[in-house]
Amino acid sequence: MNPLTLSDVVSCLSDYDPDAVPVAQAQKIIREFVTPVRAVEKVALRAGLNRVLAADIISPINVPAHDNSAMDGFALRSRDLGNDAAVTLKIVGTAYAGRGYDGAVGDGECVRIMTGAVMPGECDTVVPQEFTQCASDTSVTVAAGIVKPGDNRRFKGEDLEAGKSALSKGRILRPADIGLLASLGFAEVPVQRRLRVAFFSTGDELRSVGEPLDEGCVYDSNRYTIYGMLTRLGCDIIDMGVVKDDPASLEAAFRSACENADAIITSGGVSVGAADYTKQMMAQLGDVTFWKIGMRPGRPMVFGKISSNGKSAYLFGLPGNPVAVMVTFYFFARDALLHMMGADSEPLPLMRVASQSGIRKKPGRTEYQRGILSRNAHGDQQVRITGSQGSGILRSMSEADCMVILHHDQGNVNAGDPVDVILFDGLT
Ligand code: AMP
Ligand code: MG
Repeated sequence: MNPLTLSDVVSCLSDYDPDAVPVAQAQKIIREFVTPVRAVEKVALRAGLNRVLAADIISPINVPAHDNSAMDGFALRSRDLGNDAAVTLKIVGTAYAGRGYDGAVGDGECVRIMTGAVMPGECDTVVPQEFTQCASDTSVTVAAGIVKPGDNRRFKGEDLEAGKSALSKGRILRPADIGLLASLGFAEVPVQRRLRVAFFSTGDELRSVGEPLDEGCVYDSNRYTIYGMLTRLGCDIIDMGVVKDDPASLEAAFRSACENADAIITSGGVSVGAADYTKQMMAQLGDVTFWKIGMRPGRPMVFGKISSNGKSAYLFGLPGNPVAVMVTFYFFARDALLHMMGADSEPLPLMRVASQSGIRKKPGRTEYQRGILSRNAHGDQQVRITGSQGSGILRSMSEADCMVILHHDQGNVNAGDPVDVILFDGLT
């Protein structure tokens, strides 16, 4: 089967207009067009942290392997407990975690037991140490009604049952997951190979840090925010620097990126008035589409696939403005890269909180405003917009701890109205 072209994808859409693409439609097109990278590698368990699990993991054992005690105390047979009266039980031994008590436990007997120790003999209940009376080396008294049969006993396989699914393919492994894999005895874990992403900035006005800042120039900050976002996503990065705005340099850069990476991210040179060769070169090398997206910030964006010498890579041509770069990365590139990485990417979780002030908003485009969360006098979460929302004002991103998403059809927001926010913390 031939791979889909972008025109195949957009031909299924009845209302596609590249000059007015709603955010959701652009997201959908990207999602349908990108395909996951298939290579898998085995890595040591710790190295699996933040990587994408490449196979379903079936539990090879029961965790825990035996019924065991959840408390330090005395293991007993519940049928020995008195209904209304205290009982005094004879202590016949001690069960430690990792070194159980192998003897029998008879009528009126119990075993001193530590947390995690295997439940001895026919014992089915543990009475915690602190609930007992008159404990000596040889006997212990348990008052009536202190424990019910089965209390304080952990069941074999209650955490993970042998033969059952423990983790599913596509999961990005978190600390709990590598701990869980360790509890199953896995020293290695199969993960998807890292995605290789090349990126460069375009614009003759850009200077790299360390260079003198000539008149009328700006330092290239996009390569740093992009570096940060890609690194957090767990991609292998290829930083190609600032590429001069001439056809030969751009062609060389695009071809090299294409031959060495799975995806390419550029910034700048895609806006309507851009007097440069970036767009021209993108069109020349591949199957790309030039969008004006119904969003703010970040209206112009290029998406597609470019090829060179039999190799191809997905292309995200992000706008140049520093805030627009981050917003388009988070809301378009991120999900696509996760999909390429083979990760399950659930829609980002949104929180609904009250806006501290009114926000002007026109229906018909999605706005991403930078916000700061706090709590009001009643302890309820609220959000306020950071000062200027200009798409060149990176400080607004740096000061913010969340983004307020004003959806496509939404209009003005009044003070106190609930709005959707997305937290930066945890946004990878
Ligand atoms: P462009 O989309 O190329 O027209 O750029 C839009 C604005 O973003 C211009 O003011 C550029 O100077 C600025 N810009 C473009 N690329 C970068 C970059 N890598 N770092 C900082 N600012 C940039
Ligand atoms: Mg430019």
